[in-house]
Amino acid sequence: MSQIREIKCPQCGKWTLWAGDIDDRCLYCDSFLESRRFSREVEKKIRGEVRKENDYFFINPTDGPFKRFCKNFLNSLRWLVISLQVAFFVFVTIIIVLISLIPG
Ligand SMILES: [Zn+2]
Repeated sequence: MSQIREIKCPQCGKWTLWAGDIDDRCLYCDSFLESRRFSREVEKKIRGEVRKENDYFFINPTDGPFKRFCKNFLNSLRWLVISLQVAFFVFVTIIIVLISLIPG
């Protein structure tokens, strides 16, 4: 689908080949030919992943009060579980350290 054409590099001003892909680089200075579009694509991708990671039950502005309450509750429950896991891990580590400190 990609069509190779010649464009002027926005960085060095030399004519280089561009296939229309977002990650095409200049043949001379190795800079991205569509740096603005490229960074926007990356940003969009990162933002999507962050949202997936953080907002497990993402609250939509259109959600009713009950749905909002449920999602908030489930979110805090999830964080509670994570903190409990961390606390348990710390607790076990302390126990192990204490046991190793006991002479015997
Ligand atoms: Zn260039």
